[in-house]
Amino acid sequence: MQIKVLVLGAGGFIGSHLVKKLKQEGFWVRGVDLKYPEFCPTEADNFIIGDLREQIVCREVLDQPFDEVYQLAADMGGAGYIFTGENDADVMHNSALINLNIVELAHKHKVKKIFYSSSACIYPKYNQEEPNNPKCSESSAYPADPDSEYGWEKLFSERLYLSFYRNYGLEVHVARFHNVFGPEGTWTGGKEKAPAALCRKVAETNDGGVIEVWGDGKQTRSFLYIDECLIGVRKLMDSDFTGPVNIGSEEMISLNEFANMVAGISGKKIHIKNVPGPEGVRGRNSDNDFIAEKLNWKPTQSLITGMQKTYTWIEDQVKKQEKNNLIKSD
Ligand code: NAD
Repeated sequence: MQIKVLVLGAGGFIGSHLVKKLKQEGFWVRGVDLKYPEFCPTEADNFIIGDLREQIVCREVLDQPFDEVYQLAADMGGAGYIFTGENDADVMHNSALINLNIVELAHKHKVKKIFYSSSACIYPKYNQEEPNNPKCSESSAYPADPDSEYGWEKLFSERLYLSFYRNYGLEVHVARFHNVFGPEGTWTGGKEKAPAALCRKVAETNDGGVIEVWGDGKQTRSFLYIDECLIGVRKLMDSDFTGPVNIGSEEMISLNEFANMVAGISGKKIHIKNVPGPEGVRGRNSDNDFIAEKLNWKPTQSLITGMQKTYTWIEDQVKKQEKNNLIKSD
């Protein structure tokens, strides 16, 4: 019998890539989202447009004992969305409602296993104050002090899934993603994250021009290419390891160095102007000891390899948009 999989958030960046991967692996896939994927048609066998905050929608989409459920739906975005404070109520309320609905139905319908996508944003601020020495090992999550309401909701929902595992035996797998990037992700409009935002800014700027980078540019992060993220997710789901576990890269880079990397990829000479803006913690990096120990795997691809593919894709989007704007103004 063909394995039946449900992907929630299948119209989003990671979800749409995951659907493609699951189809390549031969699964039957149902996708659900508020919208279809923006940049290419979905490959899901069945795609339902629906709002997972509504119980009635959740009951419609999670109506059978799926072999696997991947819960990626969340109200989220990059620093410009989650660190300004303006979206806090929506971020907490919308994502928590989705998770409360889904975990209960997964239990009720005897789903064989469920994946939950948590985030590096759950890690405490006090361990991420030094750009060059952040601590993000899984065991450092408590005492909790996430830097955003987004992180608090993720921590709550991790605990929600884990309590269904403990009390009802629901097979749960929880990963904490660290800045996943790649082609076919949001690249404009305010919800884009740093890799896409930098690619867009560089692609829109002429040789010798200036781009703005939020903060002093010394804040550090690591970024994981989508293909490696999905390998990690599938390995976690195929294991008997519950997590939570980091799925991220250990190649830490400052934001200014990152901007220079993108400029180098573009072949343009670009000047950086650091401006005040939402920036989150000073330093963050994945710690991959636990995933290496439990799954005998960790991501290895260099940041620049993934960024070359991502820049090429975003440059293409920028050119298409400029062409469309020209046609409209004719
Ligand atoms: P995304 O925003 O591209 O995808 C999330 C999808 O959820 C969107 O398509 C959105 O329409 C959908 N959604 C939101 N509210 C919904 C609702 N009420 N009903 C139905 N669908 C709804 O984000 P992504 O980058 O693909 O992230 C996927 C998951 O991974 C999210 O849970 C996110 O918090 C988590 N995560 C991502 C990263 C990252 O760097 N991309 C890092 C840490 C955690």
